Amino acid sequence: MSVRRGSLFVIAAPSGAGKSSLVNAVLAREPEISLSISFTSRGPRPSERHAQHYNFVSADEFRRMIEAGDFFEYAIVHGDYKGTARQSVEPHLTAGRDVLLEIDWQGARQVRQKVPDCVTIFILPPSREELERRLRTRGQDSEETILRRLAGSRGEMEHAPEFDYLVVNRDFGQATEDLLSIIRAQRLRTAAQLAHHPGLLEALLA
Ligand code: 5GP
Repeated sequence: MSVRRGSLFVIAAPSGAGKSSLVNAVLAREPEISLSISFTSRGPRPSERHAQHYNFVSADEFRRMIEAGDFFEYAIVHGDYKGTARQSVEPHLTAGRDVLLEIDWQGARQVRQKVPDCVTIFILPPSREELERRLRTRGQDSEETILRRLAGSRGEMEHAPEFDYLVVNRDFGQATEDLLSIIRAQRLRTAAQLAHHPGLLEALLA
């Protein structure tokens, strides 16, 4: 019996919208989803661990991987290379596992081209003021970096209408439930359910 391919979920947001915390909360509730760990040429922040938050590589190594065709998608984000390895996506989908990508709008565009039935979700902060407050209280970045990210967040949010779903992160618990609803609805689609319950409909109609 052929295994049904897993679903591919893409989540984007401006930095400061709370995306990583939401994704962690979703994965705690749905551990079967495989989260892709991106590659980046950016240096690690003090709290970040190699292979856990990102695979940190040099710009030269990143370019070598581009040449080798190793990336499913990649883009330059805030001046650094960021990319999803094909190995983090294709084998999982083929094995029937759902995959989640936390990437920017440029990457989301590339993924839509490659996998037209992917599910794309954009997370919005509840207000401009709250976005700025969250960026400042994170406390890991310099003032220059914060101002650059604030400017960048507007550019990212301009692309929100391109996504299938919008989740507003006003209340963390509600936003987590919203994300879980999207994932569960996708799993309840008829094609997915028929593959998940082989023979059920035939038996019921016999
Ligand atoms: P940060 O540097 O704050 O970790 O991430 C900044 C931005 O890079 C976020 O918008 C995030 O979605 C994006 N990003 C992280 N990994 C990838 C990736 O693999 N591909 C793309 N296209 N964007 C990524």
